[in-house]
Amino acid sequence: MRLPVTLSLRHIEGRTVVIDLTHGNKFKAAGALRLWYHEQVMINALTFDLEDWFCVSNLSPFISRNEWDLQEQRAYHNTKRILSLLKRYDTRATFFILGWIAERLPELIRDIDSEGHEIATHGYSHRVLSEMTAEDFDRDIARSIEIIRPLIREDIIGFRAPTFSIRADTLWALNVLKKHGIIYDSSVFPISFTAGSKGIPNLTLAVFRHTNGIIEFPLSCAEVLFLRVPCSGGCFFRLFPYNLTRHLLRRVNRDGRPFIFYLHPWEIDPDQPRMKMPFIDSMRHYTNLDRTYGRLERLLQDFQFTSIRKVLGI
Ligand SMILES: [Zn+2]
Repeated sequence: MRLPVTLSLRHIEGRTVVIDLTHGNKFKAAGALRLWYHEQVMINALTFDLEDWFCVSNLSPFISRNEWDLQEQRAYHNTKRILSLLKRYDTRATFFILGWIAERLPELIRDIDSEGHEIATHGYSHRVLSEMTAEDFDRDIARSIEIIRPLIREDIIGFRAPTFSIRADTLWALNVLKKHGIIYDSSVFPISFTAGSKGIPNLTLAVFRHTNGIIEFPLSCAEVLFLRVPCSGGCFFRLFPYNLTRHLLRRVNRDGRPFIFYLHPWEIDPDQPRMKMPFIDSMRHYTNLDRTYGRLERLLQDFQFTSIRKVLGI
């Protein structure tokens, strides 16, 4: 017996699958449908933080902000490589654009927008929130929107803090975001420690609303036994073997949650200038840069993605 099932989901209207009951029982069919749904139908959020290799907080002790213009600019070429890969897999993503980059590469931002990706803001200066007052941050976010908005077709409704720096002590930033029309944020790691950021431990792993109404899409962690394992991109993607990342991300989907994946254009660039750094920082920044593009392609083959705006249905 073959049982056709029509799915009516937010992103997949009226798609029909056929469950074959010939060699199984109803329980197996239900299990197969659940697995199929979680692995094949669940649509995850793909995101890129558009900044150059020298903007990273890790490098700030070696390259000050007023030296950025003196550095070799590599964001254009790296982002174009990502765009061509996304086009090949017919996949849309969200790009969190640093205002400083948009000021210098307006054509690139127009290209990203015209290829159907969502444009959101990563602030202007890449200063972490703990280094700013609410007034500083207000000016920073306003400047980024002022630069980016005329280059694109839709309003900017999303924000990601530099170095994921929305934490328990910087939640004041949410009211500033609301003032500027931001609807969702994706800046919080729901664990006690990650690279360069302390996160907010014990936070829910799922999408939720802050008390002021801003939607939060926390950076994805898999739950393994009693541990939360960050597996959503960046240095974790470069440090973990690909099969481990895939296993952890599948676990997130099987728990019924879409995951959010993030990467920076410099992370696919093994030829970027190298700075002498302490071992841990160097490992975090330079490990497996030559493998990341290939891994990103495998990720696009193994999972389905779209922009945050579409995953959230807003
Ligand atoms: Zn950043």
